[in-house]
Amino acid sequence: MIALKNGDGIQWPGGKRIAVMLTFDFDAELLRHSVIGKKTIGFSDFSRGQYGPHEGLDRCLALLDRQHLPATFFIPGKIIEEYPDAVKKIADRGLEIGYHGYEHDSTLGLSADEERSNMEKSEALIEKLCGHKPAGHRGPLDVLQECSMALLQERGYLYDSTLKDCDWPYIPQECGPRTPVIELPTEPGIDDFSYYYFSYADEATITCTYPNDYVYGIWKDYFDELASEGDKVMVLKFHPQLIGRSGRIRMLEQLVLYMEQNGAWIASCQEVAQYVRDFYEQKEGACQ
Ligand SMILES: [Zn+2]
Repeated sequence: MIALKNGDGIQWPGGKRIAVMLTFDFDAELLRHSVIGKKTIGFSDFSRGQYGPHEGLDRCLALLDRQHLPATFFIPGKIIEEYPDAVKKIADRGLEIGYHGYEHDSTLGLSADEERSNMEKSEALIEKLCGHKPAGHRGPLDVLQECSMALLQERGYLYDSTLKDCDWPYIPQECGPRTPVIELPTEPGIDDFSYYYFSYADEATITCTYPNDYVYGIWKDYFDELASEGDKVMVLKFHPQLIGRSGRIRMLEQLVLYMEQNGAWIASCQEVAQYVRDFYEQKEGACQ
């Protein structure tokens, strides 16, 4: 995928040095179903997924409340059906909710009809919850179906946040010049999955999690360099079942405070994508 335009030279509002987005993939047990490939997961792994709705989410929301932070939650449609009380807590706060598949479907090769059907089901659930359709999409397990970008454009999405090819927001080539879908790239180095996912499930055994101060150091270095470059985004990606463990939330709060003191514009993905789209339109208008 080749960037049609990239955001080098973009200036953030209020002289801020960088746009930072706190994003939470609220997948519950579907995360582990996807990682081990649709097999039945053991009860222990299932319960690790449920830590998100049972405990981790509240800790994430409490942090957002304490620091008056905007955030974006990407939620599979099936999780909206299974955990209505938990997702209502997110919607009631006015936090953004984006499309994240129906069953966290990460299998490559979904047909356009299958993906369209997933979108229709999930969009209706999000609309019922929030009063409007989602503005953004993130592919489950970072998988973007071949048909997805065209469908997002067709269905009026403002942005996608799945790809990994740069630190700028940009318009993917597939979009063409009309009604562009802004890409807000993510990166495994600023994804809690890379440090905190833990499972005994066969074929996907990971039994290591990293110390919080080690992760803090890595994320701070990402932030410091990107902020010094001046025209970048930092899309931090979390899962309530992982970052929502007690000590990790304290670490995240320290990081948020550090970023705020050092020039971060912390905003929802929708706010940043809209800002970027307006920036491009003004820039193009000035050139004509
Ligand atoms: Zn996910």
